[in-house]
Amino acid sequence: MAKIYFIDVTNRDGVQTARLGLSKLEKTMINIYLNRMGIFQSEFGFPTTAHESLYLQANLELADMGVLRPIRLEGWVRASAADIERAFDLVPSIRHLNLSISTSDQMIDGKFQGRKSKADVLRMMTEAVDTAWEHGAKSIGVNAEDASRTDMAYLVEFALAAKEHGAHRIRYCDTLGYDSPFSIYESVKSLAENTKMPIEIHCHGDLGMAVANSIAGAKAAIDGGQDVYINTTINGIGERAGNADLVATVLAVTKSKGFAERYQLGKPIDLTKAWRLAKFASYAFGVPIPMNQPGVGANAFAHASGIHADGVLKDPENYELYDFAELGRGEPELVETGREICSGEYSGVSGFRHLMGRMAMSFKDTEDARPILELVRYANVEAQQPLVKDELLFIARYPQIARKLLTLTPPDGTAIS
Ligand SMILES: [Zn+2]
Repeated sequence: MAKIYFIDVTNRDGVQTARLGLSKLEKTMINIYLNRMGIFQSEFGFPTTAHESLYLQANLELADMGVLRPIRLEGWVRASAADIERAFDLVPSIRHLNLSISTSDQMIDGKFQGRKSKADVLRMMTEAVDTAWEHGAKSIGVNAEDASRTDMAYLVEFALAAKEHGAHRIRYCDTLGYDSPFSIYESVKSLAENTKMPIEIHCHGDLGMAVANSIAGAKAAIDGGQDVYINTTINGIGERAGNADLVATVLAVTKSKGFAERYQLGKPIDLTKAWRLAKFASYAFGVPIPMNQPGVGANAFAHASGIHADGVLKDPENYELYDFAELGRGEPELVETGREICSGEYSGVSGFRHLMGRMAMSFKDTEDARPILELVRYANVEAQQPLVKDELLFIARYPQIARKLLTLTPPDGTAIS
């Protein structure tokens, strides 16, 4: 029986969202949390973007060190041979890639404006795949942008061409959130049966159906005999109305009526890490978690009305589908209401030692603390808000990696393109 895997794309789709972004340290923390949760793969960034290359290299080093393992770190690149060359120039050790190109008539005509035909798209994609293999790629997924508005015969042709050139997976992108669970089921089942290729499901929430479409797509791929890789983002943050929310999709796959009896995870996911991950992403993005968010919203386990409160007190299963502890909730959280010492870009050594001491991290003396403090100051320049405990501990534990993450040196004038 084929299985379900998760690929989180917060560090790609999430950070390219209008008005939102993450520092390189925050992106790294997201990868660490995703790894602890058991997520199969993180789409960790854009290898052709110069300001991202040290972050990507540092995270690949963390993978080599065993810190970011077993999660797979994969970069998103346009399906063009020139972009693949640039990706390997900037990040030579990258091994996992997803190559993206538009496949619908709307986008081929509307974006390329007559400069490219469907045959050109196939040629560009296969050249890109070949180029990635030549540079030492170990896994390649090919993304059909706007797959939900793509003619099925062409989509199958596109996937089979990718497969012939050795690509492992085809990403079915419902780029505009146009599908319903009914339409995506039909399309993905047909794609699975006609290509015999593992499928990634990438859904957006423009019609409020991203999670529903994701599990319908997963069912379709498995019914069609293929493994499925659901794309999600943390708290559903992504382009426009967002992507399928990671926690809600895991809950839907594992808790919805009858689903898990037949459609199972290929790799266990530790949902108890969900609460911390969602809270961190909310803080880092500066976007509150909606109170009615599944699993991690403030009201997800709150009861006020008489009948509900009475019922849940007698037996939680009367009004709760799953327990808060399964999401890692239930620990009291300390909120300081009096004096507080925070990290900042102008922090001094005394305040810093006090702060770290509260996390049971002590320094021999002031000189011992200073290099870490310097890195913390730089991290604050990027974050522009106090660092959280896990970030401070990360910097203290991996100062060389942190230094790399915090190094942003724009190329000189002539090299800027
Ligand atoms: Zn997307």
